[in-house]
Amino acid sequence: MRIGVLALQGAFREHIMTLEALGAGTVAVRKPEQLDDLSGLIVPGGESTAIGKLMDAYGFYDPIRQQHGAGMALWGTCAGAILLARTVVDAVPGQEPLALMDIEVRRNAYGRQIDSFEADLAFHGMDEPFRGVFIRAPWIESVGEGVEILAEHDGVIVAARQYDLLATTFHPELTGDPRVHRYFLDEVVGAERRIP
Ligand code: GLN
Repeated sequence: MRIGVLALQGAFREHIMTLEALGAGTVAVRKPEQLDDLSGLIVPGGESTAIGKLMDAYGFYDPIRQQHGAGMALWGTCAGAILLARTVVDAVPGQEPLALMDIEVRRNAYGRQIDSFEADLAFHGMDEPFRGVFIRAPWIESVGEGVEILAEHDGVIVAARQYDLLATTFHPELTGDPRVHRYFLDEVVGAERRIP
């Protein structure tokens, strides 16, 4: 099983290190051809407008959608969650998400005053809380049918999953705790896609 991490901008190195610590084969994806034969792809945190522009410039939008159609799982962290969403509230004009996951995401949702913070999260299936690192994070404003809520913070959805699509608005790759990466590898990659 090989997992790609989109390596155009943002916190991709930390994802690669965490995956490698779990024994997964990884690819730093810089060109669309590298998407072939991946079991999963992580779209990292960073700046969604910058990542989106680079994805457009390198021609990633359709190949990612096609590979997902052919069975490639996806996980978006923070800016990556914005890019997976069906709808982005407060998007920069011209900013286009991949629109693969049936979630509505609000960009920079926490505003300036508390734009970065940490919080312990009760994450679906975990016995101990997971430390969420939120950096100018979006939140998940609403989810469609078939989307499972995995974690909430202050009544707001911060992690969700739709079959083989995973979105977290925080940064599990920055904590040294590999449990969300393990969840992605064990539960999300290769998950059966039920058509509602
Ligand atoms: N605020 C950023 C954006 O809109 C996301 C921040 C992050 O990924 N840590 O893209």
